[in-house]
Amino acid sequence: MTATSRPADVASLLSGADSITVLTGAGVSTDSGIPDFRGPQGVWTKDPGAAALFDFDTYMADVNVRRRVWQMRRENPAWQARPNAAHQALADLDAAGRLRALITQNIDGLHQAAGAAEDRVLEVHGTIKRVACMECGARTPTPRVLERLEEESDPRCLACGGIQKTDTVSFGQRLDPRVLDAAVEAAAEGEVFLTAGTSLGVHPVAGLCDVALDNGASLVIVNAEPTPYDGRAEAVLRDPISEVVPKLAEYALGAQA
Ligand SMILES: [Zn+2]
Repeated sequence: MTATSRPADVASLLSGADSITVLTGAGVSTDSGIPDFRGPQGVWTKDPGAAALFDFDTYMADVNVRRRVWQMRRENPAWQARPNAAHQALADLDAAGRLRALITQNIDGLHQAAGAAEDRVLEVHGTIKRVACMECGARTPTPRVLERLEEESDPRCLACGGIQKTDTVSFGQRLDPRVLDAAVEAAAEGEVFLTAGTSLGVHPVAGLCDVALDNGASLVIVNAEPTPYDGRAEAVLRDPISEVVPKLAEYALGAQA
């Protein structure tokens, strides 16, 4: 058992850090109404069949899978979701020049919607906001493709006729090496590595904690469930993310503990 901490325990650590690198996962967006797919109550945990729909080879091979997935994309809660207090607090930290990078496993674009700078957000699992052609690489804003679902069930690339997919990383697809390299660099350079709402169970992203620790960063973990890195963290906070992250941001911005 790792002892859990209170936000005030890391107040001086955060206020003294010139650069903070943040890694966020699904838990940051659940308060915005976006379900956690992989967590204990996750959609894919409870229905492994749903996960199969996001296997890259199946998607490319089967038009019926693509038709079903396009409908799911249209109904994705990300289109209605608004940033919550945690997204806002991290955007405030960015505006104050305190973030080295905001690495996220989320595909919902809510960090940018809260005002975080586009080039500070590293979307290691891609984004639902953009569609990519698997043939020619053309990128299109997703809403423009979703509009076509009125007439078509598997909208193809308008330039080349290729199969299209949201610009997210499916099972069986590699992470974008440029984004991953930038995340590794940011993990190495931050004085504090703050993770929020991720179980740190999926590599290579979880390995960013090792990169940070190996480079002397202090690790702060905010997550409801235990993670494999709790024992090496300076502090582990289990309270609700949309309450804890704003408190941590306040301390980082100089509020007294
Ligand atoms: Zn194309």
